[in-house]
Amino acid sequence: MELISHAPTGPIEQSWDKHKFELKLINPANKRKYNIIVVGSGLAGGAAAASLGELGYNVQCFCFQDSPRRAHSIAAQGGINAAKNYHNDGDSIYRLFYDTVKGGDFRAREANVYRLAQVSVNIIDQCVAQGVPFAREYGGLLDNRSFGGAQVSRTFYARGQTGQQLLLGAYQALERQIGLGAVMMHPRMDMLDLIVVDGQARGIVTRNLYDGKIEVHLADAVILATGGYANVFYLSTNAKGCNATAIWRAYKRGALFANPCFTQIHPTCIPVAGEYQSKLTLMSESLRNDGRIWVPKQPGDKRAPGSIPESDRDYYLERRYPSFGNLVPRDIASRAAKAECDAGHGVGETGLGVYLDLSDAIHRLGKHTIAERYGNLIEMYERITGENPYEVPMRIYPASHYTMGGLWVDYNLMSTIPGLFVLGEANFSDHGANRLGASALMQGLADGYFIIPYTIGDYLATAKLATVAADVPAAKDAVANATAITKKLLNGNGKRTVDSFHRELGKIVWDNCGMARNEAGLKKALAQIPTLREDFWKNVRVLGTNEEFNQSLERAGRVADFFELAELMCLDALDRKESCGGHFREEYQTPEGEALRDDANYSYVAAWEYQGEGRAPALTKEPLTFNYVKPSQRSYK
Ligand SMILES: Cc1cc2nc3c(=O)[nH]c(=O)nc-3n(C[C@H](O)[C@H](O)[C@H](O)COP(=O)(O)OP(=O)(O)OC[C@H]3O[C@@H](n4cnc5c(N)ncnc54)[C@H](O)[C@@H]3O)c2cc1C
Repeated sequence: MELISHAPTGPIEQSWDKHKFELKLINPANKRKYNIIVVGSGLAGGAAAASLGELGYNVQCFCFQDSPRRAHSIAAQGGINAAKNYHNDGDSIYRLFYDTVKGGDFRAREANVYRLAQVSVNIIDQCVAQGVPFAREYGGLLDNRSFGGAQVSRTFYARGQTGQQLLLGAYQALERQIGLGAVMMHPRMDMLDLIVVDGQARGIVTRNLYDGKIEVHLADAVILATGGYANVFYLSTNAKGCNATAIWRAYKRGALFANPCFTQIHPTCIPVAGEYQSKLTLMSESLRNDGRIWVPKQPGDKRAPGSIPESDRDYYLERRYPSFGNLVPRDIASRAAKAECDAGHGVGETGLGVYLDLSDAIHRLGKHTIAERYGNLIEMYERITGENPYEVPMRIYPASHYTMGGLWVDYNLMSTIPGLFVLGEANFSDHGANRLGASALMQGLADGYFIIPYTIGDYLATAKLATVAADVPAAKDAVANATAITKKLLNGNGKRTVDSFHRELGKIVWDNCGMARNEAGLKKALAQIPTLREDFWKNVRVLGTNEEFNQSLERAGRVADFFELAELMCLDALDRKESCGGHFREEYQTPEGEALRDDANYSYVAAWEYQGEGRAPALTKEPLTFNYVKPSQRSYK
């Protein structure tokens, strides 16, 4: 298959405007003739559904929670980037573009990243107009703070609850359209398959989570905004419900999956405390604005942090990266923490932790200011660990957090299946091999508010869309597939819980395709995963029935998909014989232990095509060219 990105050529500053002008329009009176399905009502899906409803399309929006307000986006803490340059500190659209391409280790499409930086400024205006209560400075302007990988302050925030406030804004816009009858909301519906008719995405099959009914929903185009797949690792900072099912089943219907091995391990999370923990908690990167990261200089030093004098502390990020200090990008901060712990400097009972210390900032700015900036995060940390960060440093360790991989999309956000669009964390994204902090919310809202409203119109105006009935063979086939998977899961009479399999799978992926990967480990994982998957189907025990609200059945289907996706991740990681961003192949590193790219051979997006059960997926490459930001060895020193 040939991948055509449709990225415009010519001066990058004008490419989105030029492209928008060239896109076909649908006249306002005709928009109501088109039906669009949006799966997902987080920031990306909620923004898209609201915007498309406002434009006049008939929108059906689906989510598996009981309300769009519970989408995982609500958990986002630290902030959202935008190149407003309110601080007058040298920011610009070009600098945000540059930082993002470099931060992603030169594995993103330049035209997409430039557009993202451009529309970032519109997002803030839109959200302010919706009433999102961003923090403000004394003069009334919106306040900014810094995030990793940037030397300017461009992150807009609402304490440590930015995702919640942004989602309330998108939710209100969505509710307005629901009230006007433009959007019909379908909560507690799980998308289990995609309906593809004559090569075009024409609908979805859902399972009603209250009564188990399998239903067909048809449309002229389908948008997936179903979030990321970090829960493949079992332990992650994501909400427990986050899953890959919608994109995975679309992959099995022909959508290519890009860069599955590009996952992000976030440096500042509360360390794992025990074997039976089911969730990890993020401590926002924003804390690195005021928190200093350190470990004891002496390996195995068990003294309480307050008893370790300054001379015995190693502020290793400040030492190794004097220009960016504690604000190096996430991949670099995570690897540095792992290296310190591997060398015996780790703190806490497990030795898998480093300190994030707010004492300097408290001394300089006062407890009140720190409480104003991070109060809810500090409270959350104290509730979980029983330790008070105003008095003792936080203990943090990297954890699986975000996935840069996802379904391949072109510049119009359309997948390789015509009529199937993918937004937000679910697509393979503009972040390359490493996402900069506070850029996921920016991308999700850019996709939903400012890109899809233009590009989907062009598709609908130009596609030839035949009338499709609910009993079309493709729909019957998708219904049969969804029903068969559900039955198979319920009919098993094994002895093990879904969670026990998920935990074991997650450990294999974390150990071999996590913060560091190597050929031997990836090959081992590729042997272990299919064996464990076989055991899952033989020995899993799913309690309850289909006709009731049954969360173990929901989870079982998601874990079944994680098994398959995990294998693709390892295959992709094995195939990419270089290190870049979060993909750190131990065989390919600089003498200082930094990621060593191989631009001559790997400057491409790896897009995988499903070839049927038991057959190896086929790899197609989208070459990446850099006309503006010249690839170089990333340096934050
Ligand atoms: C703890 C935490 C903090 C974060 N903080 C920040 C931050 O400060 N700044 C930042 O930029 N990013 C942050 N991120 C990342 C960011 O929150 C996410 O990348 C972003 O919110 C994803 O939005 P989304 O709309 O793509 O997906 P989501 O918000 O995950 O929404 C997915 C939607 O899809 C629906 N869905 C999924 N599968 C199905 C299915 N099969 N059928 C039906 N519906 C389905 C869900 O119901 C939901 O409505 C954070 C992430 C975490 C985990």
